[in-house]
Amino acid sequence: MRPSILFPLFGDISELPGVGPRIQKLIAKVAGDRVVDLLWHLPTGLIDRRFAPKVADAPAGRIATLTVRVDRHIAAESKRRPYRVRCSDDTGTIDLVFFHPRLDYLAEALPPGQTRIVSGKIELFGGKPQMAHPDHIGKPEERDQLKAVEPVYRLTAGLSPKTLAKAIRAALEKGPELAEWIDPSQVAGRKWPTWLQAVQRVHAPQDDRDLQPDHPDRQRLAYDELLATQLALFVVRNRQRQRPGRSINGDYRLRRKVFDALPFELTPSQVGALKEIGDDMKASTRMLRLLQGDVGSGKTVVALFAMLNAVESGHQAVLMAPTEILARQHFATIERLAAAAGVTCALLTGRDTGKARARVLSGLADGTVALAIGTHALFQQGVTFKDLALAVIDEQHRFGVHQRLDLAAKGQALDMLIMTATPIPRTLMLAAYGDMAESRLTEKPAGRKPVATRVMPASRLQDVVAACQRAIRGGAKVFWVCPLVEESEAVDLAAATDRHAHLQTLLGSRVGLVHGRMKGAEKDKAMAAFAGDEVDLLVATTVIEVGVDVPAATVMVIEHAERFGLAQLHQLRGRIGRGDAESTCLLLYSPPLGEAAKARLAILRDTDDGFRIAEEDLQLRGAGEVLGTRQSGLPDFRLADLAHHADLLPVARDDARLALERDPELESDRGEALRTLLYLFDRDAAIRYLRSG
Ligand code: ADP
Ligand code: MG
Repeated sequence: MRPSILFPLFGDISELPGVGPRIQKLIAKVAGDRVVDLLWHLPTGLIDRRFAPKVADAPAGRIATLTVRVDRHIAAESKRRPYRVRCSDDTGTIDLVFFHPRLDYLAEALPPGQTRIVSGKIELFGGKPQMAHPDHIGKPEERDQLKAVEPVYRLTAGLSPKTLAKAIRAALEKGPELAEWIDPSQVAGRKWPTWLQAVQRVHAPQDDRDLQPDHPDRQRLAYDELLATQLALFVVRNRQRQRPGRSINGDYRLRRKVFDALPFELTPSQVGALKEIGDDMKASTRMLRLLQGDVGSGKTVVALFAMLNAVESGHQAVLMAPTEILARQHFATIERLAAAAGVTCALLTGRDTGKARARVLSGLADGTVALAIGTHALFQQGVTFKDLALAVIDEQHRFGVHQRLDLAAKGQALDMLIMTATPIPRTLMLAAYGDMAESRLTEKPAGRKPVATRVMPASRLQDVVAACQRAIRGGAKVFWVCPLVEESEAVDLAAATDRHAHLQTLLGSRVGLVHGRMKGAEKDKAMAAFAGDEVDLLVATTVIEVGVDVPAATVMVIEHAERFGLAQLHQLRGRIGRGDAESTCLLLYSPPLGEAAKARLAILRDTDDGFRIAEEDLQLRGAGEVLGTRQSGLPDFRLADLAHHADLLPVARDDARLALERDPELESDRGEALRTLLYLFDRDAAIRYLRSG
């Protein structure tokens, strides 16, 4: 249950004064629909009204607060001209200008002969100073009500700054004093304010310094958010550790056979990862480990050995892939190798129906199928396992670890190995997963050559086509990637379809097409034609990025490379250079190329190291964009900015860990405060894992 002290903050914004249905929608769009969302809507700038010059000294373009005498009202000469109110002080005159004026209001607010304070932006019109629609008009004795410095907020069309600021002020008034949840020595050492002081002050910046992410007020709030996240991760993780897992320690009889059948040696980091995974599985707690390795680094074999370990011990294991294509590809690889050890595998995807599906389901239920490979269809209702001990989840780059944690927490005594081909920078790793165990595959398998990468303008398309033609004559296969150009899939598709038609006219019929809108079977057919010898060049939308293996593909052309993220380009490029021939990747861009885009493409040209590329990507684009928060499993931070607050992360982690060590069920006074923190930041899902949750 949410503590009652937070109720006012979790009320609907429509309960705030001045927020009717229309305003409610607008505010919900820009900030959120609860009072607390307004507190988290931090100012992005400020307006300083302290500048109070004489009329003659007021420079155009600046906000100024003037004390003037109202001289006279001048009606508009025509509908298109504005209404003017001429004012002056002892140094000069200035017109206040109003389009579509409300005359009764102006007569009352600006009576001739009286002194008024007006604040707004000074403009020059025909060489004379004017102020159009002053932001404030008041009597001299009301001077104190005029806020000297106003915060500026991100708005949306139809929402005025005044309305939003008023709603935020009302929200702030509902902010309660909350018991301190941060370790007191930490608060003292950093000279941080209390939570309430911090929220109030971030909304009342006095100068630019107050807007900086490293300002103590902002730091404190960022820390609160990071602490809530780390705490939630620890609570779930601890709970998972407490639940008994089982010790799985096979006798190698199957692994030895597969090992002997492998046409290659394992790389040192494959061996290292297998050792780490083996130790985790042997322990009586549940494994939750991330296996990171670039595309082509050989994760599938590692997964297979881990699964065979489970099978040797008499259990079942599954491998879940994010797409149909990938599931089939994993299945093909694994089935072939597992056959060497006489292990039965089955494939289960959403496309398998009827008798075939029934057969797989009964094999899983009675244990005759030891290894299953599939899509999320594996975890749907109606699928039961006789004795599932290990789930390997191939995330590629679509993380969803938070749901995975849930799955682990409520599932059987399941060990989990999560594979990802998008290297995650350490900072993001910690932010998203806390102290999750990870193994990294750092070297490429033997025989793989680096891909020569060139960056060139799209105007050289003709040369590129000619080069492809030459390569194809030499026996190469070419991937031609058309990116997400528009936000719309339809437009996107049109670009790929057009390019396909265009290349067919130039190169003939051996040009294929695969895109995201195709049905599964169609996609497979297109891929198979490319992998076989019917098609030399395959035009693709980014569907290929999730990993298909066509060793003969040695050329990749990527159109509009500037629109892709670094990690994504790196992923795509990983589709070539898989055989032993030299490979080339051509990154086409449409000028003009911005500085950041130029830097991104240069990094890609210069390095092939996925971990380095991921770090660079984080530097260049900031955390939110690197993985795309939606897809990344990275919590949606509202106050913490990992580009600026990364140093607070390990501190928050240690603080959370220590707090839980001292008070595992969060029952002490500080524990209570920490529970409140979890609710405040919507991390309360973790609370149901606590004893009195
Ligand atoms: P990932 O899943 O990490 O993208 P895969 O597991 O699909 O990579 O492996 C890519 C290719 O490399 C496969 O054809 C696989 O058989 C091969 N491979 C894996 N490990 C090695 C190794 N140690 N030496 C040589 N080739 C390897
Ligand atoms: Mg793979």
